[in-house]
Amino acid sequence: MSDPYGRTWWGRKWWRALETIGLNYPDQRIVKGRALAGHGAVTGMSIDPGKVTGRVTDTNGTFETEIRIPVYNASAWAAGMTALSLSPSCVAGLLAGRLPKRIDDVLAETGMRLLPKKFVTEDHNRITADCPCADNREVCAHIMALALVSAAKMDDDPWLVLLLRGGPTRDLAGRLRAARVASMDAAQPVLAEHAEAGPRFTARLRSRQVSCRRVRTARRSRCRAAPDRCRTRSTRAVPRSPDPLLQAS
Ligand SMILES: [Zn+2]
Repeated sequence: MSDPYGRTWWGRKWWRALETIGLNYPDQRIVKGRALAGHGAVTGMSIDPGKVTGRVTDTNGTFETEIRIPVYNASAWAAGMTALSLSPSCVAGLLAGRLPKRIDDVLAETGMRLLPKKFVTEDHNRITADCPCADNREVCAHIMALALVSAAKMDDDPWLVLLLRGGPTRDLAGRLRAARVASMDAAQPVLAEHAEAGPRFTARLRSRQVSCRRVRTARRSRCRAAPDRCRTRSTRAVPRSPDPLLQAS
C-alpha cells in the first residue's frame, strides 16, 4: 500500500525536506506525526506563498503550527518560466498537470529550486517551523503532522508547490508560451549577428563578451520552433516528438 503522505515525488520531497532543519529519519516524531495526521488531528490547514499553517490537536491541547520557506520574486519566476519553456520534457509534464522530475534541474539554470535538497540550508531554501508545544526541537510531532497532511494536499494539486514558492498557478500553458516567445524575440539580434558573422562569431563573442548562453538559448529556441529551417548542424536540441507547447497553441 502506497504512502498516503507523499504519493508523488514532490509530496514526499516536501515532508522529507524537514530533514534540512534537524529531523533525523527515522524519528519518533515522524511516527507520532503520522498518527496525528491519520486521526484527523490537523485542521484549518492552508498553503500560501511562503508558508503552510494549520492547527494540530492532541491530548496536550491545540497548537497553531507554521512551516515557512522563502518565496522567489516575480523577476526570478520570469527567468524560471523561460528556462522551463525551453525544456520539452518540463513543458510536457506541466501541461499534463504534474511536476516533471527535471523541474529543479532546469530551474537550477536560473539559481532556483522548488524543493530544497536534503541538508542544504542556503538562505533561499531555508525552511523554518514554529509550534508552541513543549518539544524544544524545531520539528515536533505537530509540525510533522502538518508537513504530512500538506504533502498529501500537494500530491493532489502540484500547483500548490509553485504557490508555496511564490510562483504562477494559473494559465501555465499561456505563460510558458509567452516566455518562449519573449526569449526568441530577445534572441533575434544575436541570431542576426550570428547569421551575418558565421564562423567568426565565436571570436567576436569573446571580444565583445556577448553571452554564450544567449546564443545557446537562441539556437535551441529556433530548433524547437522550426527544426526544418534550422541551420544548426547539431540535432541534439531538436525534440524527437512534437513540441507540446507549440501543439497547445
Ligand atoms: Zn509541537
